[in-house]
Amino acid sequence: MSRVDLYGYKITGLQVAYYIVCKRKLWLFTHGLGMEKFSDYVTMGKLISEESFKRKKPKEVEIGESARIDFLKIGDEVVVHEVKKSKKLEEAHIWQVKYYIWVLKREGVNCKSGVIHYPRAMRKIDVEFNEEDERRIEEAIEKMREIIEMEKPPPVVKKGYCRKCAYYDFCFV
Ligand code: SF4
Repeated sequence: MSRVDLYGYKITGLQVAYYIVCKRKLWLFTHGLGMEKFSDYVTMGKLISEESFKRKKPKEVEIGESARIDFLKIGDEVVVHEVKKSKKLEEAHIWQVKYYIWVLKREGVNCKSGVIHYPRAMRKIDVEFNEEDERRIEEAIEKMREIIEMEKPPPVVKKGYCRKCAYYDFCFV
């Protein structure tokens, strides 16, 4: 399967997270300003993900280009697991996981839940997925389409997260 392709747009879990965090960030990233790879915060997040679960050595799971899931637990039901650096963007993490569940369900996988691990805080949260979530994911994809189609990025809306964003200089300097 290629990326989830609705209305001609291919959407990844990262884009869903950016949609929740900042519509402008979604636009900048989608239009090729991929500055995330230069961000220390993103690099640190990846290191935490790798270091914290070294002993278990979970395998990343790729579903086409739509989902790169940290690991799956497979029993009677499949459970999505994601490892994150900080709880500050918890809502975005939750919707990223819900999106992965939605992608798996579309592929016919029996998956209704996920777990987000915050090893630094020694916490984890459970994520459930229901019919309302399905409707909200599809609605979000439609809104993402509208944002991506805009000729210019949405205006800067200053928020607490901006200083940690890879696009900070682009937006504010
Ligand atoms: S710096 Fe702030 S406004 Fe600019 S893309 Fe990042 S989160 Fe959005």
